Amino acid sequence: MPEMPLVLWIAFAGALGLVVGSFLNVVILRLPERMAASWEQEAREVLALEAEPAAPLPPGIVREPSHCPQCKHRLSTLDNIPVFGWLFLRGRCRYCQMKISIQYPLVELLCAVLSAVIVWKFGPSWSALAGLVFTWSLIALSGIDFRTQLLPDQLTLPLLWLGLLLALLPMFVAAPSAIIGAAIGYLSLWSVYWLFKLLTGKEGMGYGDFKLLAALGAWMGPISLLPIVLLSSLIGALVGVSLIVLRKRDSQIPMPFGPFIAAAGWVWFVAGDNLLQGYLHLSGLG
Ligand SMILES: [Zn+2]
Repeated sequence: MPEMPLVLWIAFAGALGLVVGSFLNVVILRLPERMAASWEQEAREVLALEAEPAAPLPPGIVREPSHCPQCKHRLSTLDNIPVFGWLFLRGRCRYCQMKISIQYPLVELLCAVLSAVIVWKFGPSWSALAGLVFTWSLIALSGIDFRTQLLPDQLTLPLLWLGLLLALLPMFVAAPSAIIGAAIGYLSLWSVYWLFKLLTGKEGMGYGDFKLLAALGAWMGPISLLPIVLLSSLIGALVGVSLIVLRKRDSQIPMPFGPFIAAAGWVWFVAGDNLLQGYLHLSGLG
């Protein structure tokens, strides 16, 4: 890596995060649409139904330029600038005045901040690059889970493979740790799911949650899993209670669990060692 002060690397990561964040917005919006369309196509094949005539596939993730979902007007380069475009337009489409979701600038800002934190933590290194890919995947997964209650295999499985492959170097954990972490990650939530289902007849989470925790286990090893699950329940409970209090959200509406697993996993990835030391220190063990 070229010589450059760390603060410049961090600023560069933040700027890169803004740009990647606006791409993640597109992934969050379009990947589920494309998944739904291809499921319908497969289901028609299995049921030997005729293909829907003239059913165009939803827009591709990369090829289609950004446009307003309401009036389909193409966005100018200026409107497309992350965060600032949204602020400049005051959150409304320039052509039809429709409100533009605050999801866009929020995801871009979040992506910028988290990317900067990764480079601050790991310095300019291959670990930071891997950490960025990890971070961006978790943001896309969380956004999709929030919108659709789905964690697509197209994102969870590559994240899992990448964690296993990096362990061959090794980068964050050694290969045995990564393999055991992936297996325990999957099986732990899988057993909770079936226990909960047998006891209550309800489904508390989905298979995507198991795969996401398996991926986190592959990146961080089995030791990280219990703290991640505890932390995600804590974050989930806090967010859930505040949503019910603030927005009078119906407590019967299912809440996606994936974003909380992702958030807890990211926090543990960046600060797990510090949190563990702090805990041992507080409990008089360290
Ligand atoms: Zn419009």
